[in-house]
Amino acid sequence: MTQSHFVHDKVVLVTGASRGIGAAAARHLAGLGARVVLAARTASGIGQLAQDIADAGGTATAVACDVSRARSVEAAVAHCVDAHGGLDVLVNNAGVIDPVAHIADFDPAAWGQAIDINVKGVFHGLRFGIPAMLEGGGGVVINLSSGAATKALEGWSHYCASKAAVLQLTRVAHTEYAERGIRVVGLSPGTVETDMQDVIRDSGVNPVSQLDPSVHLTPDQVARAIAFLCTPEAAEFDGGDFSIKTPEGRARVGLPPPKR
Ligand code: NAP
Repeated sequence: MTQSHFVHDKVVLVTGASRGIGAAAARHLAGLGARVVLAARTASGIGQLAQDIADAGGTATAVACDVSRARSVEAAVAHCVDAHGGLDVLVNNAGVIDPVAHIADFDPAAWGQAIDINVKGVFHGLRFGIPAMLEGGGGVVINLSSGAATKALEGWSHYCASKAAVLQLTRVAHTEYAERGIRVVGLSPGTVETDMQDVIRDSGVNPVSQLDPSVHLTPDQVARAIAFLCTPEAAEFDGGDFSIKTPEGRARVGLPPPKR
């Protein structure tokens, strides 16, 4: 008999749910019985996914949302409360890596836009998600991190700086809210076969662009790690980045060991 998963009947908001890791996480969590709210800028993408989830017997609604805009994230959280009665899990997944460029060649506006999405987007999720969770007695926030949070990679000044900031947001939010029942944890997924890896491959810059696609995880495998982090069993990783690049991390999620 399959045990009911922790997320069953929980309200889960996934940002960046129109494709890649976010879409896979939304599908997987809905399959485990969560009531999923899909947020991204592309309304058609999340609308279609919400329909697909409903057709498969799950519960999902779509809310067009630009995480770089505070009011847009506030409205997405308000939708969770108004339509579903609260917010239990927030997956701060929306993120960008383009454009890839050396610092002296970078368009300052483009650099700032990446920070607005990758850093401010996560802050906005915490800023509006945490009060809704406190109202409901607790919750879980999963911030999508990266090895780039601690490693310097050519062409990725915006991305490395943004993921380092996200790791610090995870640490500070954990420090501030753990005692009030809010679990905040980062997920460092290694490399994952999504549109983001196409951008990286096309750039031809730094060793990540040269990786053979066979070494990447699938978005569905990362979705299983996200489901694991929702459970109390993962609480030992709160306040830091849980990595599924390592054999140990993969074993905890039930994934095969790394190929490299
Ligand atoms: P992806 O396939 O490019 O998808 C990115 C998602 O973010 C899309 O749904 C996109 O939707 C959304 N998004 C972008 N800007 C947004 C904004 N301003 N507001 C709302 N949504 C926005 O990327 P992915 O590979 O799935 O990456 C997801 C997360 O995992 C990111 O945080 C990334 O940094 C992290 N990550 C990925 C890898 C990897 O190898 N792929 C490795 C480590 C970490 P719209 O364009 O419709 O808004």
